[in-house]
Amino acid sequence: MTQLIDTYGRGHRDMRVSLTDRCNLRCTYCMPHDFAAWLPSKDLLNTDELIEIIEVAVSQGIDEIRLTGGEPMLRPDIVEIVSRISSIKNAPKLSMTTNGLVLAKLAKPLVDAGLRRINISLDTLDRDVFKKMTHRDRIDDVFAGIAAAKEAGLLPVKINTVLLRGVNDGETVSLLKWALAEDLNLRFIEQMPLDAGGIWNRDQLITADDIFSQLSQHYELTPVEYRGSAPAEEFLVNGGPATVGIIGSVSRPFCGACDRIRLTSDGQLRSCLFSMAETDLRSILRSNMSANEKTEALVSKFHSTVKAKLPGHGINDSSFIQPSRPMSAIGG
Ligand code: SAM
Ligand code: SF4
Repeated sequence: MTQLIDTYGRGHRDMRVSLTDRCNLRCTYCMPHDFAAWLPSKDLLNTDELIEIIEVAVSQGIDEIRLTGGEPMLRPDIVEIVSRISSIKNAPKLSMTTNGLVLAKLAKPLVDAGLRRINISLDTLDRDVFKKMTHRDRIDDVFAGIAAAKEAGLLPVKINTVLLRGVNDGETVSLLKWALAEDLNLRFIEQMPLDAGGIWNRDQLITADDIFSQLSQHYELTPVEYRGSAPAEEFLVNGGPATVGIIGSVSRPFCGACDRIRLTSDGQLRSCLFSMAETDLRSILRSNMSANEKTEALVSKFHSTVKAKLPGHGINDSSFIQPSRPMSAIGG
């Protein structure tokens, strides 16, 4: 039972943990191709520090951890990290969001280490569009990663797709057709104002309604009633059992049911992707406090961060300001 309850009565059970802000792709909606503002290596949490924070989070009721980044698989000790989280007392459910580039090699070791679920990001089925959207010619590696994830039993494999107007928005239906044929659980995510290049433009947004209406011309979509705290609205496709998800973060915010907090790779705790404030946990870990004092201080910071959480992300307010950290440095 979570003890992390905010002033709006929302309990927090899910922590997104960024393992690095580095990446081997340059998705245009995430970071510019010449992006170089990486966090200093000395600021990144080492694996012992990471595990210490996760243990405290779990002691306060976090029962789900999603590893993300940047690209989490760029962390050289990723298999060890998964194994150590899986060995924590009352181990949380463990999942990962990845671009899949090195998954062909790592899927089986990760499952053996305790990984249970995976989301793989893929925005297009077309090699040239992939190159244009990521600045890398590596679509085959993603397909190999998806195959390896299925083979390793990370089922159902979820696919995350961001649609950009005039780039890949003509593929909405073909992506779903492919996902159904491959037994993959596809989820479309509205583009959010979190890119390092500041290219987000509300007028160009492919909205949840746009996606629904494109898909509805080819498939019968029936809403799945229970959503809970899940970001995606799920629809049965042609009566099911296959489903498709649409995450309308901008046009259909789901903040009222949010149960997530976020830990950045440099040890800052955030109550929301769009928070303007962060709580520094790294300085506690690197202080001269005793082990007990550190644990107490971390517990207290978890509670104060959650208590300060705002009711919503505010993207639709005229006063909205994009956070200074991009998605890749917060952890998507
Ligand atoms: N590198 C990994 C990957 O791409 O799956 C994990 C990190 S990435 C930031 C996590 C997810 O955020 C991906 O599915 C990506 O498509 C999505 N994402 C990145 N920037 C976004 C943006 N501006 N709006 C919406 N989703 C975004
Ligand atoms: Fe890298 Fe993921 Fe951002 Fe693409 S979305 S640049 S894969 S962190």
